[in-house]
Amino acid sequence: MTYKVLLIDDSKTQLDVLKLRLIKSGFDVETSSSAVEGYRKIFSIAPDIILSDVVMPEMDGYQFCRLVKNNNLLKNIPIILLTVLDKSFDKFWGKKAGADAFISKDTDFENIKDKMNEVLEKSILTQSDKENIIKHEIDNISVNEQMNTILNELLMESIFLNEFRTLGEYYNHEDILVQKMFDLLSSFIEYDFAGIYFKYSDMNLKNILYIDTKDTSASPLVLEKIKRDFFASIPSLPQFNTIDFLHQVVRENKDDEINKIRSVSEFKSSLILPVYFEKNLLGGVCFYSKTETDYTKIKFYETLKKELGTIFNMKSLYNKVEFLSITDGLTELYNRRHFETNVEREFLRAKRYKNMLSLAILDIDHFKSVNDTYGHQYGDYVLKEVSNLMKSSFRKTDMVYRYGGEELSVILPETSMDNAIIPLERLREKISQYNFCYNGTSISLTVSIGVSEMKSEYNDSSDLIKTADLALYNAKETGRNKVIKYNERITDCR
Ligand code: GH3
Ligand code: MG
Ligand code: MG
Repeated sequence: MTYKVLLIDDSKTQLDVLKLRLIKSGFDVETSSSAVEGYRKIFSIAPDIILSDVVMPEMDGYQFCRLVKNNNLLKNIPIILLTVLDKSFDKFWGKKAGADAFISKDTDFENIKDKMNEVLEKSILTQSDKENIIKHEIDNISVNEQMNTILNELLMESIFLNEFRTLGEYYNHEDILVQKMFDLLSSFIEYDFAGIYFKYSDMNLKNILYIDTKDTSASPLVLEKIKRDFFASIPSLPQFNTIDFLHQVVRENKDDEINKIRSVSEFKSSLILPVYFEKNLLGGVCFYSKTETDYTKIKFYETLKKELGTIFNMKSLYNKVEFLSITDGLTELYNRRHFETNVEREFLRAKRYKNMLSLAILDIDHFKSVNDTYGHQYGDYVLKEVSNLMKSSFRKTDMVYRYGGEELSVILPETSMDNAIIPLERLREKISQYNFCYNGTSISLTVSIGVSEMKSEYNDSSDLIKTADLALYNAKETGRNKVIKYNERITDCR
């Protein structure tokens, strides 16, 4: 079969030389001395392949390439860019513009021919593609319009990317980040409601779907339904339960009774989009609209997905670093530093709202002899095991910490000492009956626990810590393997 080649070059000499050689090699050749004229010619001849110069006045080879590759009708026509220079910069732009191959003009004609055959072999241009191209009418104005559309879209895309990059400042302020993201998303996506969810490294934290209601409001049932649907369709999340999955509304206008959404059936379309970075699920976004919208057809949909991946990844890295700085590597419990921050915060909250608050400190009995008898590794194993038993003994709102070497603590908000004693006793009992087994060696162990509660006369969290510690000391003094509640008769006799 004879292939039809469209050859574009602003130099007549170049055109003539190459044309002659191509004809001799059995190609059917058409020429154009400018890219604009060449573009129009495509519609009258439907070439099998295009060879184009890069440096030309008016429209250059890259722009020409972009124009062709952006046109669904023409994008399958292979393009080889010819240049005098063989710089990586040229290749970069050539590839960006969508060129199928790149050849230096002063290369042997044989090389050009080989490259053409190689490209033609891979070509997926069909006979019916060609017929459709010829059927199409094109004039000068539409060539310019198409070029402008492409340039505008490129400009928009680069502005869009830049805007996304500016979000980087807010990774450590989740509430501001969420606001800024909604500002940005709503500026180029038509939605009535949208949602953002970040998956945290810290499994103790609750999953929050932030919902942007864009200055209107919604009935609680609508928000609940959006949240449920969202978390149910995000893959690889633990079983949905209402306690660990929350929603938080932003940009809400509670007084807007007119536009208030009362039922999800008011939404005609929606999109729930999990966000991944290198196959890791990092969260998700969702959009709801009262009008028919195909969100997968929005402009920059693919770019949006990629950019969200990048943003979520940066946010997740930030969270991970933060998570590592507050956890203990051995037991995976929160560390002493985090304990100190949280105990003070809980103390102040309890004082302000006159809530109850309990604090318990646990210490493994005769732990030193475990280390001495079975080795440090065995001791580490015991610590991990006790930590796990402790973690699973309390409600999610009760935070467990590695308080010291072999001392663990738990802060129980809104819990009196009398109520705290119930899970603590259960834990003590469970540990005393637990079979600790490592490398074939089984032992049993006991723990002592001291617990204290918030009192109005306490000034700061150190009073709460001191009293829990005194109770623990008392438990040790009076025989170990027990939970002791602090009372005024327990004094420091160390
Ligand atoms: P008591 O019943 O009075 O608490 O006796 P004890 O032996 O547990 O008391 P002590 O506080 O004297 O000993 C605590 C030991 O815990 C000493 C230390 O070597 C050990 N320890 C602290 N941190 C770790 C750790 O991370 N791994 C291991 N294996 N041992 C640890
Ligand atoms: Mg001990
Ligand atoms: Mg100790």
